[in-house]
Amino acid sequence: MQKKIDYTTLLEKEMRHSLKTHNFVLHYQPQYDSTNQLVAAEALIRWYHPELGIIRPDDFIPIAEDSNLILPIGNWVLQEACEQLNLWQKNSKQQHIKLSINVSAKQIWQKDFVQDVKNIVTTANIDKSKLILEITESVLLGDINEVAQKLQELVDFGLSFSLDDFGTGYSSLGYLKNLPISELKIDQSFVRDLDTNKSDLLMVKSIIALGKNFGLSVVAEGVETQCHFNLLKDLYCDMYQGYYFNRPLPISEFDQLL
Ligand code: C2E
Ligand code: CA
Ligand code: CA
Repeated sequence: MQKKIDYTTLLEKEMRHSLKTHNFVLHYQPQYDSTNQLVAAEALIRWYHPELGIIRPDDFIPIAEDSNLILPIGNWVLQEACEQLNLWQKNSKQQHIKLSINVSAKQIWQKDFVQDVKNIVTTANIDKSKLILEITESVLLGDINEVAQKLQELVDFGLSFSLDDFGTGYSSLGYLKNLPISELKIDQSFVRDLDTNKSDLLMVKSIIALGKNFGLSVVAEGVETQCHFNLLKDLYCDMYQGYYFNRPLPISEFDQLL
């Protein structure tokens, strides 16, 4: 237990330092439509520590959330994503690409969240319809009306929202009704055994139908095999992301794909 506490304290200290020394980068995981066209990407943060090596987001994002370091990190992610969108927009072969970023509940609960996002996006001078903010149900542990209002303000501003990891939490239909989201992401735990587990197949089928009925675009993540892809295509899933296509890539490799 003491070791764990020490490690957490160390990571927190190193994270503060790395924010100054620019040791974070974004990797980009492609998303394809059912005709195999690369239409979008999810930005996923990577931390390259000079001594500790690569630290996975699952290991440091929870610590960043507990220590509020997720606020400067989240701002950096948004800024970086906007800069990238700006670059793609200057190239006719790249300007159709949409980019999703992950936003923590902690960020959304901040009083100035809406204004901060608007400021960064306005300064970056991007096509707002290309930026998607991925949220998870954990955001609703706060005041749902207040959260819904904040999201609506940003939708009115021109951004859109995706509900990540769908199916793992309460997955309440009320969220779909009350939140201004335009996309559902099926959690990878349902996709993994799609070809062997009947309940997973039924679950995915139901989520896709649900999404369609609500007029949402449905993205499957964790698509690892041709079989996953075919089954999802038969169910009319809209978009596909996973190792079958590509891992999250450094920007140079992603741009090459484009
Ligand atoms: P997530 O948003 O659910 O991201 C998907 C994760 O699944 C990514 O892990 C991705 O690399 C991985 N993945 C993609 N395709 C496959 C596949 O076919 N098979 C398998 N087994 N895994 C696949 P990653 O990059 O390690 O990120 C983990 C989590 O860290 C993310 O889960 C997200 O919750 C969080 N995260 C990452 N970047 C950010 C960020 O910029 N901000 C915040 N707040 N959280 C982030
Ligand atoms: Ca995500
Ligand atoms: Ca996810």
